Formats: sequence, C-alpha cells, structure tokens
Amino acid sequence: MEVVAHFCINCGVPLETKVLEGRELEACERCGFVLWHDPKVVTLVVVENERREVVMGRRGIHPGYGHWCLPGGFVNDDEHPAAAAVRECLEEICAEVEIERLLGVYHIQKSDAASMVGIGYLARLRPGAVVGAGEEMLEVAAFSRDGLPELAFSSHRQAMSDWLRIWEQLPTEKT
Ligand SMILES: [Zn+2]
Repeated sequence: MEVVAHFCINCGVPLETKVLEGRELEACERCGFVLWHDPKVVTLVVVENERREVVMGRRGIHPGYGHWCLPGGFVNDDEHPAAAAVRECLEEICAEVEIERLLGVYHIQKSDAASMVGIGYLARLRPGAVVGAGEEMLEVAAFSRDGLPELAFSSHRQAMSDWLRIWEQLPTEKT
C-alpha cells in the first residue's frame, strides 16, 4: 500500500511509526492515539422464503455490479450485528425478516482497504412479506438449491456452502 502521512484525530499532529504488539503502527506521541488497522464488520444474510428458496439481489452498484449477492452490509457502531442484518434486508430486498441462527463467520481479506469480518445469518421472511429491489439492487429473485446463481463475493459463496450443509443435515423436511 502507498505510504501517506497520517495525523492524530485528537491533536492533528503527524503520527509516528511505533512497534506495538509486534506490529508496526502509527501512533501519536502527544496523546497516545494509535491508528489500529481494525477490520470492518459486515453482515450477510441467507433469507429463505416459505418455499425455502433463497432471496437474492442483483447488484446495481460496484463492486460486483450486475452480479447476484445476498443482502447484507456494514454494521454500525451502535448496532447489534443481528439488528444490522435485519436492517440491511429491509433496505436491499425491502422485506422484514426474522433471524433464525448464526450461519458462520467469514474473513474477507483486502489488499487495498481494511479487511472485513463477515457475520452470516440464516433468516426467514416474515409471513406475508413481499420482496422488492432496494435502491442498490437491479432486481431481486428467489432461488432453489438446484438453481443457485453465481455470486459476486467469496464470503457469500462460503455462506451458501454452509447453508447447503445445513440442508444436507436435515433428516426430513420439517415445515
Ligand atoms: Zn494525539
């Protein structure tokens, strides 16, 4: 990554390179602020409809423009990830969902930005909910296990493999 000068968010003075916990980081000599390289937290949600198909959206924004993806997005500072997941479903597939369980946690390595920790949930559409395309989606559709589309992101593909594994473990169809 290109090296650019950073400044303290508290004092405005240039940060100095410092070794902390075995990592080279930038810190403020004056107030002790450390520019930690923390990952961003995102959610991704496998939303089942009443036929146990998965509701997905085709992206109308970059990255992944034109490709299918699961609803999800960044978790706000004051939000529980499950609440963020429900909010993102409202925004992206325009439907209320109920979180059923945690599906998995995924690490998304980035070379040009902070890495991400993806928290995958399994959710169901609330009874009677009708899906629609949110602002960032070109369209939404539901897919059965046998007809899943190619997904834009590797973390979404991992979440779908975890979802398929749950299916395989089901002894019989319950609902
Ligand atoms: Zn400072």
